[in-house]
Amino acid sequence: MVDITPFSLPGKFWRGNLHTHSTLSDGLLAPNKVIEAYKNAGYDFMMLSEHFIGHYDWPVADTRFLRSNGFTTIIGAELHAPETSVGELWHIVAAGLPLDFAPCGEDETGPELARRAARAGAFIGIAHPAWSQLTVADGHSIDSAHAVEIYNHGCAVENDRGNGWYLLDQMLNNGKKLNAFATDDAHFHDHDRDAFGGWVHVKAESPDPQDLLTALKSGNYYSSQGPQIHSVSISGDQLVIECSPVDIISVVGGTSRSVKQSGRSLSKATLDLARLAEGWLVPGPSPWIRVTIKDASGNCAWTNPIWRNEIEPGNIAS
Ligand SMILES: [Zn+2]
Ligand SMILES: [Zn+2]
Repeated sequence: MVDITPFSLPGKFWRGNLHTHSTLSDGLLAPNKVIEAYKNAGYDFMMLSEHFIGHYDWPVADTRFLRSNGFTTIIGAELHAPETSVGELWHIVAAGLPLDFAPCGEDETGPELARRAARAGAFIGIAHPAWSQLTVADGHSIDSAHAVEIYNHGCAVENDRGNGWYLLDQMLNNGKKLNAFATDDAHFHDHDRDAFGGWVHVKAESPDPQDLLTALKSGNYYSSQGPQIHSVSISGDQLVIECSPVDIISVVGGTSRSVKQSGRSLSKATLDLARLAEGWLVPGPSPWIRVTIKDASGNCAWTNPIWRNEIEPGNIAS
């Protein structure tokens, strides 16, 4: 059995939200009110991701003074530059920016801006692909990305375009090794309707912002709307998962096939990955898989993609 990261790593899971706005850009609440709301909701960390444009005077929110015992913040922003294939501005989550990150250059494109942020040390996430109507070519053009925002709660609530898996799954099929992350993108214009709906559980020894960022960039986290994943192990074609009680546990790869177990309050399942390659005209085993669990309320948690060649004996990251 190979125990899959991040579940097998030492440390603890810290719950955080990487995408939310305050009055420093177009959110309704002041920064301290936003931070207080997340702290009261049981989060361990969060990031104000203000719209990094001249209209708001290029904000990189300095939230260091809002850190307290048991709650920390990451410094970052939501970056914008021309232009996606539908002719709009890019929206790129950059977690871990220096406070003096320079405004965009006049001719700087989205991919160039993302590269500059990555060079400055940031975790780069392609925001709300469905809301932005991003194509797969758009996704690949952000070649410094660490992850795709596969669930954006604000977009889900506002216009049913919260799910970004379509983009990540196709990029994985093209061999691009990216991770997935869920966020709120809360603005609090309608009370907290767009808050506390999607987050990440980051595995790290401490909730130090630098430790959290290192873990994020390494993919040592998973995404959730509520359920918790405790462990994932793989031996040959057998995948074993342990989690909080859910009604559906399923695995997909790069084709239409899936393998699932359903029932009431399942907290463990063993799934046969060989069945992902069965069916009419299904090409051989998918090089990557990912696990989704869904509880009785319809809330999901998702692992990051697991590349099977990385867990074969002799090829396991220590
Ligand atoms: Zn956005
Ligand atoms: Zn946003």
